Amino acid sequence: MANKPMVWMDGKMVEQDKAYVPLMSHALHYGSGVFEGIRLYDTKKGRAIFRLQDHIVRLFNSSKILDMKIPYTIEEICEATREVVRQTKTDIDYIRPIAYYGLGEPGKIVLNPAKFKVNVAVATAKMGTYMGKEQLEKGANIMTSSWEKPSNKSTSLQAKICGNYVNSVIAKIESNQHGADEALMLNSNGTVAEGPGENMFIVRGGKLITPPISAGVLEGITKDSILVIAKDLKIEVIERDITRGEIFNADEFFMTGTAAEVTPCSFLDGRMIGDGKAGPITKKLQTAFFKAARGQDKKYDKWLDYVDI
Ligand code: PMP
Repeated sequence: MANKPMVWMDGKMVEQDKAYVPLMSHALHYGSGVFEGIRLYDTKKGRAIFRLQDHIVRLFNSSKILDMKIPYTIEEICEATREVVRQTKTDIDYIRPIAYYGLGEPGKIVLNPAKFKVNVAVATAKMGTYMGKEQLEKGANIMTSSWEKPSNKSTSLQAKICGNYVNSVIAKIESNQHGADEALMLNSNGTVAEGPGENMFIVRGGKLITPPISAGVLEGITKDSILVIAKDLKIEVIERDITRGEIFNADEFFMTGTAAEVTPCSFLDGRMIGDGKAGPITKKLQTAFFKAARGQDKKYDKWLDYVDI
């Protein structure tokens, strides 16, 4: 085990500060990469990667949109991910697999990456609570972004394509500049899409409501976990479009994401949502989610990949 965070790069382990990418890599210029964000949780049986296989399957699905052929199997990337965690003893809780178009023909600059090498790397990081401990407990302050989510005709929102994230980055910058914790992004139809890196949920009359894929959202793995948990807790779930106005009238509002986990949202655009605290259904789902992720609920043990045994 190394004292420095390690990176698995095209089959080799390297120290993170030596994990270089050549300047002429296609992805650096055009965002032609795909990536994942995965959490690592501490459990009684050591560290566990949350829904590893599902994340790597999504990575491969994202790559199809860029017509990218990842030169490894899903299981090889899963094992590379386990190995990079095993070989890192620094305090990490987040994993970043990335596949990207690297170098092409020397001296040529072209948009179509068909003839470019596909590189793959798996890095790790320390994320902590994404928006802060207080936000996770009491609720985050959200601002509707002036930036629109690209439409389903502009790109694939179901793919975690690097270039898509310029939209998320500018929305995040704007919300932070205005003193908010996170952005709410509307789609080209004017209904709620998602956050820069989170799926959105509201609770109205005891029912959980979340926008469908057609609203222009990522098929979030945390969202899926919440849908499974909600079903098990007999909470009714409806996937349908949500308007911004509905959020103001909602009893509860929260978002989900690998980084954000299950974060209650207590304010939107300066207005209090519900009673301005984490609501009872949000709390129930959040508690159940953390129990599952930390290996405290046998029912969801299948979601955990224990790396230290
Ligand atoms: N939407 C976007 C745009 C995201 O980047 C993410 C983070 N991956 C999510 C939603 C939440 O997805 P997940 O729960 O799989 O992290």
